[in-house]
This record gives sequence, structure tokens and C-alpha cells, in this order.
Amino acid sequence: MLLDERVGERYHSDWSSAIGCAPSAVLRPKSTQQLSEVMALCHEHHQPVVIQGGLTGLAGGATPVLGEIAISLERMTGIEDIEPTGMTMVAHAGTPLQVLQDAALEHNLFLPLDLGARGSCHIGGNVATNAGGTEVIRYGMTRSLVLGLEAVLADGTVVNAMNRLIKNNSGYDLKQLFIGSEGTLGVITRVVLKLQPKPLSYHTALCGFSDYDSVVEALNRLKSSLGSGLTGFELMWDNYYHRVLETASDLASPLQQSHRFYVLLEFRDSQASAGSERFESALFELLEDEKMDDAVIAQSHQEAANFWRIRDGVAELLQCLGPLSNQDISLPISKIGEFADVLQARLKRDYDNMEVLLFGHLGDNNIHALAYTGRQCDVEPINSQIMHMIGEFGGAITAEHGVGVLKKKYLPLSRSASEIDLMKTLKSAMDPRNILNPGRVI
Ligand SMILES: Cc1cc2nc3c(=O)[nH]c(=O)nc-3n(C[C@H](O)[C@H](O)[C@H](O)COP(=O)(O)OP(=O)(O)OC[C@H]3O[C@@H](n4cnc5c(N)ncnc54)[C@H](O)[C@@H]3O)c2cc1C
Repeated sequence: MLLDERVGERYHSDWSSAIGCAPSAVLRPKSTQQLSEVMALCHEHHQPVVIQGGLTGLAGGATPVLGEIAISLERMTGIEDIEPTGMTMVAHAGTPLQVLQDAALEHNLFLPLDLGARGSCHIGGNVATNAGGTEVIRYGMTRSLVLGLEAVLADGTVVNAMNRLIKNNSGYDLKQLFIGSEGTLGVITRVVLKLQPKPLSYHTALCGFSDYDSVVEALNRLKSSLGSGLTGFELMWDNYYHRVLETASDLASPLQQSHRFYVLLEFRDSQASAGSERFESALFELLEDEKMDDAVIAQSHQEAANFWRIRDGVAELLQCLGPLSNQDISLPISKIGEFADVLQARLKRDYDNMEVLLFGHLGDNNIHALAYTGRQCDVEPINSQIMHMIGEFGGAITAEHGVGVLKKKYLPLSRSASEIDLMKTLKSAMDPRNILNPGRVI
């Protein structure tokens, strides 16, 4: 247990803009049994707790509120087993995502979950937030990778739902209660993950486009020509792309000319040799039909990694842009281009020096918007304006980062009253004393 000055600043907040504070104490259990005992005591004494994973969350769910004890999963790490025949992995919740990715590759297997925070976020946090990332277009969100899990309830009860079977319709699928519930219904302690065969060839390209409609047409055509091998379609508006290149002085644009839109494409194939021909001919067709303006294919792993560094440059931007509204938005693909134009026009009209950087996982209907003025300002009115615009366009106020505390008041813009009522019923049934991540989500 860490108390007083031993509670380091890293436990005061997550990566979001939620205002943090020192928790009353930090408890770092080493086992499910210890965590269960801690929760039973907190339940008995009506002590509120906040659950902390890798603290990379962007919705403020892991940021302590005054009087809360933080429960960190950082000592519950490690891989219990990797089973190559069934292609499953069992891991403790506090294991960093990247450790799991590397371990799968060592067994010639592949964990299809990846995001910029891979080195710091925990698999428990990924499951609790139902994280998305760059593989969703092919493999779905974290939910679709989880076969089973173990969780500790608010009163200390341990729920063992460590299913390893693909098919199991024996009663309610209880793991779904915990996936994406952002630590409000239970503390995830172990997970069973479904792995995939390791692809034998990887192909990465960076492409330039002059208009949004051509980007969408290219997406649809590549889905047909590359089928399930299309594992990444990451769109960047020009100002995001150039801002990242300005920030990372060791990166240069791989394309000779400037474009209105940039797309990072990833294609994976189960055949080592035929893949590159298939990828090149799909790109060539788009260039020939003038749907795409330019494309460059990475010639080495290093080059591909540099392309991805441009896409992942958001991590550095978050640290240097000053106060900003950081939104992840889900909208029908057909509306994203218009939404982006209207969003930029309205915010620039209402705020001096406003800059809106846009990028995202277009194949999953999901874009991220960073809106900032470059000086100290209250971002809440900007958040509110964006949230209401999402409601106006019929989208979801969060595609993957979750609700946490930052989006709680906007939940009715994306969920019906009956859905929110049922969420409250579940919460009060599973945590009747409201001690587990109170005030988050609902
Ligand atoms: C640079 C960067 C890039 C990112 N890219 C993406 C992206 O592409 N896609 C995406 O979806 N997200 C992204 N994120 C957001 C973040 O990384 C994810 O939400 C991640 O899943 C959070 O994991 P964590 O371990 O850091 O959780 P934390 O931040 O510690 O916690 C997040 C929430 O989950 C709860 N929680 C944590 N662990 C547990 C547990 N074991 N049991 C129950 N509840 C728990 C917390 O209480 C909190 O409510 C990004 C963040 C950064 C900083």
C-alpha cells in the first residue's frame, strides 16, 4: 500500500484532460485473492475506489476523485499460458499490451489488437474500455477477441468466467457485462484471448487523395480486391499529417507532393510471395482510374514503421498542443466528409486561432478530432459544441475511448432513456453501495 508522499504523481490522473488529485491511498494487489479481500473490506466500509490500469485512458475513468482509494493492477502481470492448438492466450489484467503482442509472435501467432499506447496500456484496461485501434476493420474491437475472463465484484466476489471455447451458449454470456463497462461493474483480473495465425507477409503503403469521395471509393474497392487481407485503412486530413511532421523532426513525408487527404494502408497475406503482387496491382488500378493521386509502398520494415509513426504521431501531439478537445467520433462513412467540413467551419467561426486536426480509422466509421487554440482556455464549451454536432449527425459520442467522466453528461445524445435506465439497474444490482468507479459512465 502506498500512502501520503509515497503516492507518486502518476496515480493522480490518466492521459485525459480530467482534473486529478492524489488518491487517499494506492493499493497494488498481487493476486485475485488479495484484490477480493480488498474489495470486501471497501464494500463493508462503503469506501469508494478507482480502478487503474496503464492510465492511458482518454475519458478520465481512471482519474481519482477526492476520497477515493486507487486500486492499481500494475503488479498483477504476466502470461499464464499460450495454447498453440486452440490459439488462445491467458494473461493477467495488468500485463502491458505490447508484452502480449510480442509473446504471441514468438509462438508464430498474432494478437490482433494494436493502438498507439501499446507499451503502457494494460490488457485489463483494453478489455474494460473495449478498445478499438488499428486492426478493427479486419478483426473487430477488443470484445471480439475475448473468449473469457475473471473479475472481482464490488463486494469481493470472484466471478470465474474463464471460457476458452469459441461456441458456448450455456446461459448468459457474463463476460460481456465487464467488457466496455469501464470498471463500473467489476475489476477484471484475468482474460482469455483468441489469437490468430501470424500473417506471412505485410505490405504497407501511404497514399495521397484530393477529395473525400475518392477516399471512400478506394476503401470500398480495396475491400473487394484485398478481401480480409485489408487490415488497416487509416485516414489523415492534411493538417494532421503536416502537424505531425513538423513535430517529429526526424520524419519526412514519403510522398513528394502535398495532398488534401493521406491514407495509411496495411495489407496482410497468408502467402509469403503472392501478396506483394496483389497489393501492387490493387493500388495500380486505383492510380490508373485516377481515384488516387499518388502512392508509395514501404520497401522495408523500417519504412513501414516510419509510415506508422506519422499515423501514431498523436501521442506526441497530445503533449505539445496545449489544452485541447480530444474527441473520438463514430458516424456513417457517407457523412464523415461533410461532418468534418462543418465542424471545422463552425469552430473556426466561433474561436480565434482554432485549429482542428482530424484523423482516424475510416474503415470502422471512426475519426478522431483534436481542436485547440494554442493558448490556455476552457475546452468544455468546445467539447459541448462537438458533442451536440455528433448528435445532430446521428453519430456516437465515443467510438472507442469510452464515456468515463468526460462524456457522461452527453450520454443521452447517443443512448436512449430506456438503455440508460437499464445501465443504472445493472449498476445498482452489481454494486449496490456504489463504491466501484462511482460517477463514471452513468
Ligand atoms: C497515444 C494514445 C493512443 C491511443 N489510441 C487508442 C486507440 O487507437 N483506440 C482506443 O480504443 N483507445 C486508444 N487510446 C486510449 C487508451 O489507450 C485505451 O482506452 C486503453 O484501452 C486504456 O487502457 P489502460 O490500461 O491504460 O486503462 P486505464 O487508463 O488505466 O483505465 C481506463 C478505464 O478502464 C478502467 N480499468 C482499467 N483497468 C481495469 C481492470 N483491470 N478492470 C476493470 N476496469 C479497469 C479504469 O477504471 C478506467 O475507467 C489511446 C491512448 C493514447 C494515450
